[in-house]
Amino acid sequence: MDNRKIKRNVLQCKLCGDIIESKYTHDFVTCKCKKCFVDGGKEYVRYGAENIDDVILLTEYEDDENGQT
Ligand SMILES: [Zn+2]
Repeated sequence: MDNRKIKRNVLQCKLCGDIIESKYTHDFVTCKCKKCFVDGGKEYVRYGAENIDDVILLTEYEDDENGQT
């Protein structure tokens, strides 16, 4: 279980170049080509794609700045 606080739940689709962000819990967002999605807002990170290599996870965590794990 990942206990880090999510700052921004962001995903980029390599197929269409779209950058999508889930802003709140159950905010299910799909990219332009609908091949990938992100969900969960700041509660959890859930994402998927037909081919997981087609997405770049850009999620930022609160702990990124102070280096805690
Ligand atoms: Zn796409």
